[in-house]
Amino acid sequence: MRQRHLFTRTQKQAPRDEVTKNAELLIRAGFIYKEMAGVYAYLPLGLRVIEKIKQIIRDEMNALGGQEITMTSMQRKDLWQKTDRWDDDVVDIWFKSTLKNGTDVGLAWSHEEPITDMMKSFIHSYKDVPVFVYQFQTKLRNELRAKSGILRGREFIMKDMYSYTANEQEHESFYNKTKEAYMNVFNRVGLGGNTFITFASGGAFTEFSHEFQTITDAGEDTIYINREKNIAINEEVLSDTMLADLGVSRDELEKVKTAEVGNIFNFGTAKCQQLGLTITDERGEMIPVHLGSYGIGITRLMGTIVELFHDADGIMWPESVAPFQLHLISLLQDSTDHAEELYKRLVDAGVDVLYDDRDIRPGEKFKDADLIGIPHRVVVSEKTVETEKLEYSHRTATREKSMISFEQLTQRIQ
Ligand code: ATP
Ligand code: MG
Repeated sequence: MRQRHLFTRTQKQAPRDEVTKNAELLIRAGFIYKEMAGVYAYLPLGLRVIEKIKQIIRDEMNALGGQEITMTSMQRKDLWQKTDRWDDDVVDIWFKSTLKNGTDVGLAWSHEEPITDMMKSFIHSYKDVPVFVYQFQTKLRNELRAKSGILRGREFIMKDMYSYTANEQEHESFYNKTKEAYMNVFNRVGLGGNTFITFASGGAFTEFSHEFQTITDAGEDTIYINREKNIAINEEVLSDTMLADLGVSRDELEKVKTAEVGNIFNFGTAKCQQLGLTITDERGEMIPVHLGSYGIGITRLMGTIVELFHDADGIMWPESVAPFQLHLISLLQDSTDHAEELYKRLVDAGVDVLYDDRDIRPGEKFKDADLIGIPHRVVVSEKTVETEKLEYSHRTATREKSMISFEQLTQRIQ
């Protein structure tokens, strides 16, 4: 893409009420636009990152046998009443509205109830399960505080998956596979070494659920970890019995701030029973269905990546989620043929390039490139036109330059 055509511009300053790095940098670099507190639009650069993250997750969910769907944002009150999750004193983050005919509707903050009810049309016998469905969906939550940039939105994108299985064993097997798939996702987006699976309180239906917590000071959670023993416990559930069970003592634990990037839940058979989803077994007898629920905050993940990968000059995207692979910066004044030719060659070679072909000062181009944070960079100048080689650098703290060939460049990128 030609940067000349990109309608967004970088900004020197972010809105004064943005206190987190993720919001500051993403707004300044033109990835997102703030509509109001906790509500952000995703602009061309930001949407590219979102799509990269989604594709990684889609890969992993499809590998588990997940089938992608999109549910609706408007939801039925009666379904949530059946499970006692409609009232505001039970779920305090609902946005609700009323149709002209007086019917109340809820705006989706989660989807267990509507998906489970929908499954009654498709799941009737043990032969119809297991079923795993997932979606990327905008969730609306009336969050009390929305001060963490895109880490906590009132409108945000979530990947939510639901598993319908015939028994505990089948449920557990899928649950454990999902746990691994989730770690694959976090590794692939660059959060591997900083992300821990914790025990967390799981509400009424299970003793525990699991959370995926990434270490960052911008996070709102606190966990205790022991890296050697690979133990992580959410502060909310830390107890002496749990420590004894895990074979670790309090003074072996390190306290860290984290962001919850994912959460997986076992609902047991309770929710399907409340909603009337049952199946027949081999003997034709009615048996309950097990429900698992598995979420990843897509936009929170993006914000967490920025929190972990930035320096004083801007963002440093991991290659797997960067908006473009390569930033091609032309410093040529009149004859831009050389840069144009290189741009075409790179595009033909399948490289995803942002080509800075704008008529602005070199200093501004470099400042913008540092802020936007595309990993690979090639600068074309009068000096480099003379040689057969390309001036290459990587968006790391040092930004060390080297002269490499076209082939070396494409090798480095692929
Ligand atoms: P939190 O405790 O942070 O409020 P939650 O436990 O209510 O989150 P879940 O219902 O488990 O969240 O949602 C699944 C995932 O969606 C979370 O693990 C998180 O990554 C993401 N998420 C939840 N709330 C938000 C939000 N307000 N903005 C962005 N992402 C969110
Ligand atoms: Mg959660």
